[in-house]
Amino acid sequence: MNKVVTRIPPSPTGRLHIGTARTALFNYLFARHAGGSVVFRSEDTDRARSKKEYEDEIIEGLHWLGLSWDAFSRQSEHAPRHRELLEQIVAAGTAYVSKEESKMEKGKMVEVVRLKNPGRSITFHDEIRGDITFDSTELGDFVIARAIDDPIYHFAVVADDMDADITHVIRGEDHISNTTRQILIQEALGAPRPAYAHLPLILDEKRAKLSKRSGTVLSLHDYRDEGFLPEAMVNYVALLGWSPGTDEEHFSLAELVKRFTLEGVQKGGAAWNREKLLSVNQRWMRELSDTDFIARGALEAVDEKVLRRAVPLLKERTRTFDEARELLSGELSCLFSSPKFSREALVAKECGTPTKPLLQTLLVPLQDLPDNATPEIVKSVLMPLADAEEARGKGGRGALLWPFRYALSGQEKSPDPFTLVSLIGKEEALARVKKAIAILEE
Ligand code: GLU
Repeated sequence: MNKVVTRIPPSPTGRLHIGTARTALFNYLFARHAGGSVVFRSEDTDRARSKKEYEDEIIEGLHWLGLSWDAFSRQSEHAPRHRELLEQIVAAGTAYVSKEESKMEKGKMVEVVRLKNPGRSITFHDEIRGDITFDSTELGDFVIARAIDDPIYHFAVVADDMDADITHVIRGEDHISNTTRQILIQEALGAPRPAYAHLPLILDEKRAKLSKRSGTVLSLHDYRDEGFLPEAMVNYVALLGWSPGTDEEHFSLAELVKRFTLEGVQKGGAAWNREKLLSVNQRWMRELSDTDFIARGALEAVDEKVLRRAVPLLKERTRTFDEARELLSGELSCLFSSPKFSREALVAKECGTPTKPLLQTLLVPLQDLPDNATPEIVKSVLMPLADAEEARGKGGRGALLWPFRYALSGQEKSPDPFTLVSLIGKEEALARVKKAIAILEE
C-alpha cells in the first residue's frame, strides 16, 4: 500500500469548533499511527466568509493540542491549477462548458462547466460504515464550476486531494452525501479514489446535533481560556467516537498515536458530556507537578510559598484552572491576607466554656508544632484539645474548632483549621489566634 497521507482541511469561516478539532485529531492519529503524513489545507475559497484571523485561530488551536502537519497550503492558491484541470477535462470531453442564464442575476448569460454524468449507481467503501451506494442519475450533469476560473467546492476538494496524493479522507458524516459527486469528479479527472471514513456526529447532552442552542461551549479556545489542559482536550475528544476496545480511558497524544485505528471508531453519534470532560481534565491536572500546576494554570498569589502549599488542596477540589483561580480568590483568599473579624462573630457559637480560654489552650501546642506540619500532624496535635472540650463542656468540639477556624480565616466558609494551619504555617496561625484573643480581651 502507498504511504498514508491524510488531510486537515478546515474552512476558516469561524472559530475553531470542537468538531473540527476532533476531525483534525483523527486524521493526525490515523496518519501518524501508520507512519504517514498529514496535509493541512486552509479551504479559504469562500472569499466573503473566510478570514485570516479564523485561519490563525484554527492553526494555533490545533498546535496547542499538539497536532502537526507536514505540508501547508491554501485552497485559494490553487486557482490556476483548478483552471488547468477544468480545461483538461473539458478538452477530454468528460465535462463541458454550457452557456446559461445566471442563477444569481436574471438575464445575465454565464458559461458554467458541467460534468458529463454517466448516470449509474456508485458504491464506495466507508472504513467505518461499510459499503454505501448512491444512484448518481438524479444529480444529472451537475455544475462543477460557475465559470472556468470559479470551481465549486466539490471540484476544488477533489483536485486538491488528488494533487496532494491523499490516500484517506476522514471527515464528518455530514459529508457522506457529497461523496457521490466527488467520486464522479475524481473519475472525470482520472484520479485514484482515496479510502473514505465518515466520523459519527457529535451530539449534545440531550443527544441532539451539537449546536450553540444546546448551550454546549463549541469553541476550543473557550475551553482553553476556562483552564482546560490540551492533554485533557485531546484525551476527551479522542473518546468522542473512538474507543480502544477496552475500558481504558486515560490516553496521552503519543499513546493515542500508538493505539488509534479506524476499527475502533463507532458508527453511532457520540454525545458530548461536560462532566466527563471535567473529570478527564482533573485527572490531567493532578498529574502535573506542583510547579507545573502553578505555571500552566497561570496561578498567582502574593505569597508564592503559601500558594505552593495550597496546590494539593487545589488538585483535590478543582477541575479546571478557572475553578482553581476562583477558589484562590474566594475561599482561600484568607491564606494570603490576614482576616478581619469581629468579637461578635468569634463568640457566635459560644455556649458554656468561654471562647477566650479555649483559644488560649492552642497557643503552646501551636508553638510546638514542627515546621511545615501536614494537616494530619496538626490534627493529631490539636484535635485532642477539642475532644477534651467535648468531654467537658456543652458546646462540644465546635466550641473550640469554630472560633479557631474563624480566627484563622475570618470566613463563614473555609477549609478546616488543621489544613489552614498547615497552609499558612504555624507562625502566621499563632499570630491570628493571638489577634483573636486580643479582641476578646478588649
Ligand atoms: N472544508 C470542509 C469542512 O470544513 C472539509 C471538507 C472535507 O473534509 O472534505 O467541512
